[in-house]
Amino acid sequence: MSNFLPFSRPTIDEATIASVADVLRSGWITSGSKVAEFEKQLSVYFGGRPVRTFNSGTCTMEIALRIAGIGEGDEVITTPISWVATANVILEVGATPVFADIDPVTRNIDLDKVEAAITPKTRAIIPVYLAGKPVDMDRLYAIANKHKLRVIEDAAQAIGSSWQGKPIGSFGDFVSFSFQANKNITTSEGGCLVLNNAEEAALAEKYRLQGVTRSGWDGIDVDVLGGKYNMTDIAAAIGLGQFSKLNEITARRHKLAKHYFVTLGKDFEAQTGAQLPPEDYESTNWHLFQIVLPERITRADFMARMKEHNIGIGYHYAPIHLFKLYRALGFKEGMFPVAERVGRQIVSLPMFYAMDEGDVGRTCAAMCEVFSNWRSK
Ligand SMILES: *Cc1c(COP(=O)(O)O)cnc(C)c1O
Repeated sequence: MSNFLPFSRPTIDEATIASVADVLRSGWITSGSKVAEFEKQLSVYFGGRPVRTFNSGTCTMEIALRIAGIGEGDEVITTPISWVATANVILEVGATPVFADIDPVTRNIDLDKVEAAITPKTRAIIPVYLAGKPVDMDRLYAIANKHKLRVIEDAAQAIGSSWQGKPIGSFGDFVSFSFQANKNITTSEGGCLVLNNAEEAALAEKYRLQGVTRSGWDGIDVDVLGGKYNMTDIAAAIGLGQFSKLNEITARRHKLAKHYFVTLGKDFEAQTGAQLPPEDYESTNWHLFQIVLPERITRADFMARMKEHNIGIGYHYAPIHLFKLYRALGFKEGMFPVAERVGRQIVSLPMFYAMDEGDVGRTCAAMCEVFSNWRSK
């Protein structure tokens, strides 16, 4: 039987491994010159906007909310279909999460529903670019500007994605990226936040490290409550090696996505009742290749059967509002029907840089076999 094919796997090249070893031998293994270099290169990529790195793509969003002064009594609108981090950060700062249902085609937050959810207490929107596909960015910022709302883009999955030729992160308000192990580029764990100006960047530095300010010769003071969120030079060395291959990584993912569409064929949806993602080689980085299973097929069984074929299937994501923590806040079934249907049936097929077209073929063949034999078991 063929080797197990996971749904995702990082690829770290030998040059990157050597640069990590150099850091480990250097005597300086926490935040230092590698972090500064990584931030500099990211800033160039994001059109010169200020960028700060952190130890996750979760604290980035929490810090953006703090910089924006959002807290108790404020409402923040987000999507129920994301990693729970997206909503947790709203609770972390004491604000109130307000969910808006998703668009069944893009699986991203539905901007009509965002507009309908705005109240006098709304202060911000956190859109998520699921699988790396951005929302309609013109419309998003038109809504935000009209209602004077801050935007914290959860672009955790969207490095290398773009909108009308501009990289995601090179425009807009706060933009948060994750470099967690499964993301298109990784630092093992980590993230970065694109900010608007030097003042916000200085605040981000304070929130990143205990609120410490340095003033004068060897002077130190603390004037805001910060945490411990800095990236290490070990992580930044991995990030620099990964970032140098971003275009290559994105191009490979586009090629693999195209191979999925070609292999499954034009009639796949009509024949199986499954739903493919929008075929987009323009704006998305193809962080994930997600299909929505037909109702007759139960997700957990599908995943188990694909595992019998030695193929790993991911699940991104269970609707956030149905987790116990959120039910305790009053959210319940039936509130966001599209998110609930998609969240029950969505699966992520294998998609990572080191895969080849044979792996795509193997996945499609196994999936078609599982679909056609469904009744027989
Ligand atoms: C990965 C991810 C996060 C969290 O990033 P971490 O670096 O793991 O903290 C948040 N939102 C989305 C959509 C993600 O995919």
